[in-house]
Amino acid sequence: MNDSLANPSPETSLAWLVLLVVAVIGAWRCLVWWLETPAEPDPWDNEAVELGDPVAAEPLCLRCLEPHPHPAAFCPHCCAPVGDFNNYSPYLYVFSVGELLRTGTSGSFRRSWLTLAGFVILGAMEYLLFAPVYWLCLVLNLRRRNDSPPPVLNSPP
Ligand SMILES: [Zn+2]
Repeated sequence: MNDSLANPSPETSLAWLVLLVVAVIGAWRCLVWWLETPAEPDPWDNEAVELGDPVAAEPLCLRCLEPHPHPAAFCPHCCAPVGDFNNYSPYLYVFSVGELLRTGTSGSFRRSWLTLAGFVILGAMEYLLFAPVYWLCLVLNLRRRNDSPPPVLNSPP
């Protein structure tokens, strides 16, 4: 048995007592500061309340920004997967992945090494032996996008 723990010296006891007093005073000061701090104003002003319930609002498609009915798995305008649980349903998951891979071969997407690597790897995972066919369609889509003229931007009047 250690004697210093069983019979602490008076200096050690005094140090623990001072530490305890400082901790109690600090906790008391924090409690007083917390109670005296004025409450923040309501973050939702009247304008937000007048707009209505955001949960009840009609959701928008993330691709085409068209409204779609809430219990929808896919956007009725552009077929993008918009359902909340598409990736958890084995049946809908197949169509979601198919829509994503179709974007690589016939759609427009932001080109970066990450998206291209994702299309190549996901295509290899999904199509196995037929992956080279998918990669060929991906390359053709990339070349077609390179040959097309850049989009004309509308200038403000
Ligand atoms: Zn859409």
